[in-house]
Amino acid sequence: MERYDVVIAGGGVAGLSCALTLGSSKGKGQWAEGRRFLVIDSGKSDLLKAMLNNVPGIPAGTTGKKALEDLKAQALVYGNVEIVKGSVKKVEGAKSAFTVHTEDGNAYESEIVVLATGFHSFDADVAGVRVVPHANSPKEGRVMIVVNPDDTVREGLYVAGILAGVSTMYATAAGSGTQVACSILSGWAGKKTVVHDRV
Ligand SMILES: Cc1cc2nc3c(=O)[nH]c(=O)nc-3n(C[C@H](O)[C@H](O)[C@H](O)COP(=O)(O)OP(=O)(O)OC[C@H]3O[C@@H](n4cnc5c(N)ncnc54)[C@H](O)[C@@H]3O)c2cc1C
Repeated sequence: MERYDVVIAGGGVAGLSCALTLGSSKGKGQWAEGRRFLVIDSGKSDLLKAMLNNVPGIPAGTTGKKALEDLKAQALVYGNVEIVKGSVKKVEGAKSAFTVHTEDGNAYESEIVVLATGFHSFDADVAGVRVVPHANSPKEGRVMIVVNPDDTVREGLYVAGILAGVSTMYATAAGSGTQVACSILSGWAGKKTVVHDRV
């Protein structure tokens, strides 16, 4: 079975933003070396329906489809992120020994798992998750997972994006995914960590 440091379920704004920040830690310290990150995505991001005029840093009039393609390409730049098509149906185990199962029969081992599957429903079999009505959605019937202040459900199991209850905007979803990545990197580095580059 392939083993990763982080498996991210969901490759929308939040999942890809998380992967991008994790990937960008390459070369930033001993603790970052040799890390591998996997995004498993079923390809139905809400962004695919969007026309973006109000996302900080993205030119007005950019389609969500184009923004998603650009974000995917950016996350792949560091060579330590893989993105596969699939639908996560079950997460077993605990920190350092999670197994993530997909509907098509694949399984991946991981130290850490991030759930970032959006707010339409959450049907995967994952021990410890509590699914409740979304706290910040303008539409009825949307869901979120209750998280601890550090975005975990339990040790090593994180939730990001609108599934974690943030408002359904690109920037909040991206920020949530990025925050989860910084928390993971801080755990590995043993101190509060962000990833910055200088001119
Ligand atoms: C019509 C429309 C217009 C919008 N316009 C704007 C706008 O102008 N400005 C703005 O800021 N925001 C806008 N948004 C909101 C923005 O698209 C969302 O806030 C953002 O996409 C949320 O990111 P996310 O990663 O949390 O969820 P998503 O981007 O929805 O990503 C979730 C991903 O998880 C995948 N997934 C689901 N279940 C599984 C599973 N079991 N296994 C693996 N993968 C799974 C899905 O296929 C999807 O790719 C718009 C949304 C819509 C619908």
